[in-house]
Amino acid sequence: MTNYVIIGTGAAGVSAAETIRKHDPKGKITLIGEEPDGYYSRPGLAYILTGEIPSSQLYPFAPEDFERLGIHLVSGQATGLDLARKQVTLANGKALAYNRLLLATGAQARPAGVPGEKLPNGETLPGVIQLDNFANTREIVRRARKAKTAVVVGGGITALELVEGLVTLGVKTHYFLRGNRYWSNVLDEIESRIVEYRLQEEGIRIHFNTEIETILSRPTGLFGKGEIRVSAVKTKAGKIIPCEMVGVAVGVGPRLELAKAAGLKIEKGVVVEETMHTSHPDIYAAGDVAQVNDPLTGKPVMDVLWPTARDQGRVAGANMAGVYTVYKKEIALNVTRLAGLTTTIIGTVGGKTPDNDTIGIVRGDSETWREIPDAIAAQSNFDVNRIRLMVGEKTLLGAIVMGDQTLSSPIHRLVADQVDITPIRERLLQSDGQVGEVIAGFWTQVNGGGSRNVKP
Ligand SMILES: Cc1cc2nc3c(=O)[nH]c(=O)nc-3n(C[C@H](O)[C@H](O)[C@H](O)COP(=O)(O)OP(=O)(O)OC[C@H]3O[C@@H](n4cnc5c(N)ncnc54)[C@H](O)[C@@H]3O)c2cc1C
Repeated sequence: MTNYVIIGTGAAGVSAAETIRKHDPKGKITLIGEEPDGYYSRPGLAYILTGEIPSSQLYPFAPEDFERLGIHLVSGQATGLDLARKQVTLANGKALAYNRLLLATGAQARPAGVPGEKLPNGETLPGVIQLDNFANTREIVRRARKAKTAVVVGGGITALELVEGLVTLGVKTHYFLRGNRYWSNVLDEIESRIVEYRLQEEGIRIHFNTEIETILSRPTGLFGKGEIRVSAVKTKAGKIIPCEMVGVAVGVGPRLELAKAAGLKIEKGVVVEETMHTSHPDIYAAGDVAQVNDPLTGKPVMDVLWPTARDQGRVAGANMAGVYTVYKKEIALNVTRLAGLTTTIIGTVGGKTPDNDTIGIVRGDSETWREIPDAIAAQSNFDVNRIRLMVGEKTLLGAIVMGDQTLSSPIHRLVADQVDITPIRERLLQSDGQVGEVIAGFWTQVNGGGSRNVKP
């Protein structure tokens, strides 16, 4: 009987466990997780902040589902890996033996790295918050009940989720951007402006070219005897903004502690082959912690995407159970909301403007998007319903669809299937804002009047 041990109860770990069980009905599967909340939807956390869904909707699995699959759950942190003995050590001192091990340890939010963010004992100053897991989401809600004002720094999707969540919770929110526009290495200037305009309409105060110099704090309560917490931020221009919360969403980094200690090959993340095998024969890695190769660009890439983590977990699980399976990275895709506007990001869409609001990658993000495609942009007119296509020599290399999503699925298929767009290339480039019409007509032809299966 094979002894499978998986570290991490997130999307990648659970997907691997399900797949192992499918191929090996008798093997022992142990899932180690340090979060008391277990397996839940991280992308769903933003909807908890805005109060759009109840907490109960975050759980894709009930405890009985783990029982039904015969998955043994171990609560606690894995602190060590002994490759020679094939053992995982837990924080409580116990050791678990494995034949095959999966590292599905995910990623963790990075600190802002500004003075005042940490207390002298190294802990984070109360009131400095991050939208990273269920526990800190609850903390945001709890603090927001008493807070009047917050300052948020960072970029990408999580910063906006934080900003909009705080506003929904009734907190007056200032959003600091280091540069002069939002998410400048993925969005073009018009898209950034659409998002910024909508945020301002929601009452969010955006401060361009603004950085925190220091986070100020003071003790709360009568005679200053309570907790020491955020009281204001001082900007590099010397302005002081009193606030009770500082939201940090500058990016995430893979959880590499165990892989490092075990001497596995690491670059940006744990390096894996297409079978999700690490540099060690018994150890696999999947999800936010793993670094794969992007077939589109040929470069090593990190993704922080839920469907990618599930896919990689599935491939790792199959190979761990002895069923040879290869991971083929799909075109990076996310359907998200930016300032309330549904936005689909597909393939390579990057621009030449660096984004200094983030360090590396953020949640719900793919490094692929930042790649600057060898392409010419074709776009529909300025409107909230906007399509930007990256038109390559023969194929579409990427796209951003904002607002009306009628064409996002067809465009995704055209990019993912590398459909030859020669018949419409010139029309797209000369479409004078009518990109949507040209694509819709072409899709009907390619799709044979609707007979082709369009993946959701
Ligand atoms: C606010 C937010 C918004 C997001 N939005 C989107 C989105 O719009 N679209 C999208 O596709 N993705 C989004 N994501 C990203 C997506 O949730 C992740 O890519 C996905 O959860 C990664 O799964 P994973 O299994 O690799 O890691 P995780 O889900 O992070 O799970 C890893 C688990 O391992 C545990 N762990 C780590 N080390 C140890 C250890 N030593 N011992 C025990 N346990 C350990 C961690 O505590 C964690 O529970 C978002 C994430 C967040 C937080």
